[in-house]
Amino acid sequence: MIKEVQLRVSPECAGTDKLLRRAMAEEAAIDGRSIKAIRILRRSIDARGRAVMVNLNVRAYVDEEPTDEPFEHTEYPDVSGREPVVVVGAGPGGLFAALRLIELGLRPIVLERGKDVHSRKKDIARISREHIVDAESNYSFGEGGAGAYSDGKLYTRSKKRGNVQKILNVFCQHGASTDILIDAHPHIGTDRLPRVIENMRNTIIASGGEVHFQTRVTDLIVERGRVVGVEAEDNSGAGTRERSFMGPVVLATGHSARDIYIMFARKGWTIEPKGIAVGVRLEHPSELIDRIQYHSRDGRGRWLPAAEYAFVHQVEGRGVYSFCMCPGGFVVPAASGPEQVVVNGMSPSGRNSRWSNSGMVVEVRTEDIYEVSEYPVLKMMEFQQRLEKMAWQEGGRRQTAPAQRMADFVNGRLGCSLPASSYAPGLVPSPLHFWLPDFISTRLQEGFRVFGRRSHGFLTNEACIIGVETRTSAPCRIVRDEEALRHIDLEGLYPCGEGAGYAGGIVSAAIDGERCAEAAAKGLGYEAG
Ligand SMILES: Cc1cc2nc3c(=O)[nH]c(=O)nc-3n(C[C@H](O)[C@H](O)[C@H](O)COP(=O)(O)OP(=O)(O)OC[C@H]3O[C@@H](n4cnc5c(N)ncnc54)[C@H](O)[C@@H]3O)c2cc1C
Repeated sequence: MIKEVQLRVSPECAGTDKLLRRAMAEEAAIDGRSIKAIRILRRSIDARGRAVMVNLNVRAYVDEEPTDEPFEHTEYPDVSGREPVVVVGAGPGGLFAALRLIELGLRPIVLERGKDVHSRKKDIARISREHIVDAESNYSFGEGGAGAYSDGKLYTRSKKRGNVQKILNVFCQHGASTDILIDAHPHIGTDRLPRVIENMRNTIIASGGEVHFQTRVTDLIVERGRVVGVEAEDNSGAGTRERSFMGPVVLATGHSARDIYIMFARKGWTIEPKGIAVGVRLEHPSELIDRIQYHSRDGRGRWLPAAEYAFVHQVEGRGVYSFCMCPGGFVVPAASGPEQVVVNGMSPSGRNSRWSNSGMVVEVRTEDIYEVSEYPVLKMMEFQQRLEKMAWQEGGRRQTAPAQRMADFVNGRLGCSLPASSYAPGLVPSPLHFWLPDFISTRLQEGFRVFGRRSHGFLTNEACIIGVETRTSAPCRIVRDEEALRHIDLEGLYPCGEGAGYAGGIVSAAIDGERCAEAAAKGLGYEAG
């Protein structure tokens, strides 16, 4: 017999098998000795009251052993010799597009400008150690895309539960912990993501698909208004080789592929500027955030994870909000080219560093930014570039980042010292209140005051802000027909994921990847089952 119950228990009970079985037996009014196994189906932490509680949905197998699988497996047939579809970019959008194409009986040819996920790690380490940013292999570019060295948070605002579940199942099938199916706020962790990504690549290749690294797409091949393939530079061997790959194209190049936006602007293919959010990374000692969020001097104790927070407030008609919070994580140098300082955040699966950080950003609408170059559609991208260059100059023209204590920033003071930080390349004291554009800094200051009033102790000089956080979303939209998901001017082209302006995170990019694969298949006369 299978019994399911809702439990509301202490963190210790939630984390101890024996106590949990006892609570389960009591709630279900059954003899604890008859429970052969238990499986947690949902888990969320409720830290609103003084005592932190854990809400669980638990299944007990009474007098029987579990025979059901924790998740549904997807079958990937052999697609060798089938019709090809070119997938540009091996981020979550591109990888999930490729896997879905295989399910639909098509052969994906994945082209990725960066290196495989393991070789990429060395280039990422060099950014912190030697301040050298490889423009083709960094936190944004390379196998796994921007999501590979991240927190791997897998929550999304998508309301279509079925779609989200499928994505989580595919992650589990490729080695992610089944905890992601349970937790209200699932995350994989930067230490585990590379293995999962590598397994996805192996599935693509084992099914007859192709994956080409260090192969940067430089142009689309267009015949009578239809995209029939791409031109690419293959840098995987000695020297550069020009190559063409033929087939309809899923373009999943991410929000940092500025050369792709420039190509669209130059060729006059429709793209439009899009609202973004920019600001800083805010870093606190994680103990402090734990104490605040769990209302306890002892912090998280033995049974709770590093605490999360989320803030949002409107200041003078624009949203100011926390973004991509990384409890127990690291602030990372996420530049993708020369003369840029860009920060972002990541955390390992254990979320056990001494710091907790989040992006603190201000909404910027297209009407807030003036045009400076010959391509008005690129004005939001150029605004990002200007801020990133300022941060590079203020940070000492290396990957050291400009930083300021949080309360000093709010009060317009420049202190000379900075707290210890997880940001490996190092910090330089800098008056961010002074050089950030006024409409950003004053809103951030007001937002921080409000957040400090809501959470006592949050606004403090123990925390520091690090500049600049500019890559929160795409600065352009590669406009597509919402029905057919193909580009508005070009048949055979399926702009996909975050770079196209249709996703904002790992899961939503993955869902969009699947949808674009289905659209490309439909364009070739294949129907999704
Ligand atoms: C440090 C960091 C932490 C993050 N943390 C999280 C998180 O915890 N949770 C979350 O949901 N999101 C997070 N994000 C955002 C998330 O990673 C992105 O939303 C997601 O990766 C977008 O997926 P995508 O496939 O659309 O694009 P991307 O992941 O950006 O992938 C695009 C790929 O295309 C390749 N490419 C670009 N141009 C070309 C070209 N011309 N030819 C060939 N290949 C090309 C790039 O190298 C890249 O691999 C984080 C991002 C960063 C940088």
